[in-house]
Amino acid sequence: MQPTGKIHIGNYIGALSVWAREQDRFDGIFCVVNLHALTVPDSIDPAALHEKTLETAAIYLASGIDPKKSCIYIQSTVAEHAELSWILTCLAPLGWLERMTQYKAKSALKETVGAGLLSYPILMAADILLYDAQLVPVGHDQKQHVEFTRDLASRFNNRFGPVFTLPEPMIRKVGARIMGLDDPDQKMSKSIGEMKAGHSIGIMDHPDVIKKAVKSAVTDSGREVDFDNAGKGVRNLLTIYQAVTNCTDDQLRSHFADKGYGFLKSEIIEAVREALHPVREETLRLLQERSYLEKIVAEGAEKVRVSAREKMRAVKEAVGINF
Ligand code: ADP
Repeated sequence: MQPTGKIHIGNYIGALSVWAREQDRFDGIFCVVNLHALTVPDSIDPAALHEKTLETAAIYLASGIDPKKSCIYIQSTVAEHAELSWILTCLAPLGWLERMTQYKAKSALKETVGAGLLSYPILMAADILLYDAQLVPVGHDQKQHVEFTRDLASRFNNRFGPVFTLPEPMIRKVGARIMGLDDPDQKMSKSIGEMKAGHSIGIMDHPDVIKKAVKSAVTDSGREVDFDNAGKGVRNLLTIYQAVTNCTDDQLRSHFADKGYGFLKSEIIEAVREALHPVREETLRLLQERSYLEKIVAEGAEKVRVSAREKMRAVKEAVGINF
């Protein structure tokens, strides 16, 4: 997760909650991708980036990722990410990068586009391939980047020998693409959420702010919730409710049968409060414990560095640059 913008319920549902839920089944490696945050240089505020990086690590912990079971660290503290990224950059066809949906969307809004924005998926590939990750738990928007990672890994393996494991995306069925409350045609996003009140539900938002945002959320033109024929606005609200309460389609259908949008919204406010309030409180508490937070991310980096170094040695040997 990038330490930028306003971390929202889409990030929580699509990524964080899955990471926490699955950590007993897998060896989880979770970094705060602060090098990725540099891809939009205009918006870098060094002091804010530093703070936001620690806040993001605190949100990981507060969401239930347990440092005894999983590794949590900051991307820039393990130099192998950037090192591998360069080697992969030399192998990545420009056409593959230019085809990435996220690059097209992000670059369309800018007059000048930095090379980092284009090569963003290569750095993400390095994050994944460095540890022979088998599964990459992400929201739907990152599926294409995981496929790119597979293609790039295959290209490397075909050219230099079998060094990398090909990863699979791990994407939840309900909630992998939460849309904006103000516009159900647009993915809920950290950058828009920071600029526009009412777009997102922020993990660190005060409950009153969340209440206001949900109350003003776009619904459909009707008045009652019709689970099977819901339009985009109501469908998005139902998805948020279902993802945070883990209820089945049938439970959802009967809970909201013949109920109006007002009831739906008050139920969401309550369910979201129950899910996010403890995360917010714990994050605020952890931010007061700076040395503990710094210790956790330093230990996480120490652990993953062993595998990262080993993998880089194999990569360099395969390419002929190991001395
Ligand atoms: P953003 O796209 O909001 O800036 P990131 O790119 O840092 O956030 O994404 C962090 C994680 O959250 C990724 O796994 C991403 O797929 C997931 N994610 C982002 N937005 C959403 C969303 N609207 N719904 C579900 N998952 C999302």
